[in-house]
Amino acid sequence: MSNCCSNEPSTKAKCPGCRTSSKEVQSSTVKHHLKAPWKIKSWSTRLYFCKSKDCDVVYFSESGDSFRQSDVRTAVGQKDSSDLATVCYCYGVTRQEAISDDSAKSFVLSETKAKNCACESKNPSGRCCLPDFPKN
Ligand SMILES: [Zn+2]
Repeated sequence: MSNCCSNEPSTKAKCPGCRTSSKEVQSSTVKHHLKAPWKIKSWSTRLYFCKSKDCDVVYFSESGDSFRQSDVRTAVGQKDSSDLATVCYCYGVTRQEAISDDSAKSFVLSETKAKNCACESKNPSGRCCLPDFPKN
């Protein structure tokens, strides 16, 4: 599947909460989702996004900090299996809409192709939402 975010970092690290291998995320993404990013003293560490459903850790850093759902101002759809969870943050598509309305996914696909998406800032994963769309 095509991916709109071309300059993604690709390092992985194990989440301190669930030990799942998690992908690196850019600090600019984390700044857009933390409740109080100005309280972080240093941004010069690698940051990772944990997408495990049963884990409360959303972001963690190489230097040992972790940020939980309560530290993040965005409801993390990747950790929420309800129908109202957000799948696409750029265009506000919920899981229910993604399942019931095919045009939602085709819209996101065409916008992604045209590079009109904003996953790096809007999606807490910092990545394209298309892999998160429910398979049908
Ligand atoms: Zn985790």
